[in-house]
Amino acid sequence: MGAMRLNLANTLRKSAANGPGERFVVWVQGCPLACPGCWNRDTWSFGPRRVMEVDALAEEILAVRGIEGVTLTGGEPFVQARALASLGRIVQDAGLSVFVFTGFERAQLVGHARRELLEVTDVLVTGRYVQAGRSTEEPWRGSSNQQVWFLTERYAAEDMTRTAAAEVHVAADGSMRLTGFPPDELRAAVASS
Ligand code: SF4
Repeated sequence: MGAMRLNLANTLRKSAANGPGERFVVWVQGCPLACPGCWNRDTWSFGPRRVMEVDALAEEILAVRGIEGVTLTGGEPFVQARALASLGRIVQDAGLSVFVFTGFERAQLVGHARRELLEVTDVLVTGRYVQAGRSTEEPWRGSSNQQVWFLTERYAAEDMTRTAAAEVHVAADGSMRLTGFPPDELRAAVASS
């Protein structure tokens, strides 16, 4: 078996707006769900974007000091479930937690590879983004139909308060990136800057 690879859209070494505490965020490339109003349309295509071996990404994550876990989002993480399960196992063994956002419903997460990823997930947020149910009040959810599942004892409802609503990251070239669940005014301000 060759080395397992991931097709990534982006990564962020430290974010406080994507799950509890400071986390390394992995946006995977490729999503088949096409939710109207999706904030990350550039992650829909399944064409190769930033292809990386699982071990190399794990090494990059484990080199970051001061994070308590990893957040897997996208794109659709469960399309790359096998490779992400492998990544999840490595980081959990190193003491980090795993938080996963998926557009699928919990009942759709069947089959060997998907179960493998569930086995290394501490918190799972399920359900498609529904524009009409847009919510900025409920932590960890983009729309109020989405559900939060605590799959291990590591986190509980009170950890929801340990998340910033949104962050703006400024790159070396001056470009700005918004992450988390920002209110509309902030989204508009960054888009027009
Ligand atoms: S599941 Fe997420 S990434 Fe995929 S289309 Fe819906 S909102 Fe966008």
